[in-house]
Amino acid sequence: MRPFTYERATDAASAAKTVSEIPNARFLAGGTNLLDLMKLDIEHPAHLIDISRLPLADIEAADGGLRIGAMASNAAVAADAQVRARYPVLAQAIVAGASGQLRNKARVGGNLMQRTRCAYFYDTTKPCNKRQPGAGCAAIGGLNRAAAIFGQSSACIATHPSDMSVALSVLEAQVETVNAKGVKRTLAIDDLHRLPGDAPHLESNIAADELITAVILPPAPQGRQTYRKARDRASYSGGLASVAAAGTRIALGAVALKAWRASKAEAALAAGASPVEAADAELAQANGAGGNDFKIHLTRRMMTAVIQDMQR
Ligand code: SF4
Repeated sequence: MRPFTYERATDAASAAKTVSEIPNARFLAGGTNLLDLMKLDIEHPAHLIDISRLPLADIEAADGGLRIGAMASNAAVAADAQVRARYPVLAQAIVAGASGQLRNKARVGGNLMQRTRCAYFYDTTKPCNKRQPGAGCAAIGGLNRAAAIFGQSSACIATHPSDMSVALSVLEAQVETVNAKGVKRTLAIDDLHRLPGDAPHLESNIAADELITAVILPPAPQGRQTYRKARDRASYSGGLASVAAAGTRIALGAVALKAWRASKAEAALAAGASPVEAADAELAQANGAGGNDFKIHLTRRMMTAVIQDMQR
């Protein structure tokens, strides 16, 4: 463990100011990802700003939807009566995402900002463009069973691990932030994470002086909601593919470096395509890296089954 300094934030804008002023400072919320990364020598922040006690944990009705504070625990969101009644896809995704212990510690903001689970990212003896820009990518040509099938690049084929973000994509959530000057803004959840391109170390569109303060859910779409996830085992295992559906909207998880909104499948269904045809329309743009080729077929079958369920 490398030495670092620590402070407890007292308000969100000041925390954003501090993180932008101190080189290599990081926010610490639940710590379920960052502390692991520090222990493994992947992240070595010089200063931690503990935001976990900021008054940002409320879950409250807002404009016909729901406002979820960024410091709400994943467990609190999944158990919230309004979430369970009106946004069940979100509760299901959170429960599918981690064990009870982790859900109790992990916060909404941290869930969205967690980093990939690519095994080579966590292995400092292997090249990784995300960990060290320009180093190369050991997953390309290596063990890439869990790698992306959409949106990958020649620099990185990792996936994003957040199940929550997949559900938020079909709910068309907005992410609220505040910056060092106290200025708030919102961005669509689908604009939060970046695809790797030639700079996989740049992971989100959150600025260096911004802090996520809330997730805003608009009124729930008409129709049923569901979340289905496939993984190698039921716990302590990352996803291989997941499908979120809400009304006529579909998004995929564990297949790209962000939640993958299945807009081609949605368009095909709107035009009268069958579930299989809709899945095929989306998967036509998928590419495997060898070890993960099975994910194309897995995702097709999962999408088809979910769409069939939604149409019953
Ligand atoms: Fe690193 Fe991305 Fe390659 Fe994994 S896939 S080794 S995270 S560059």
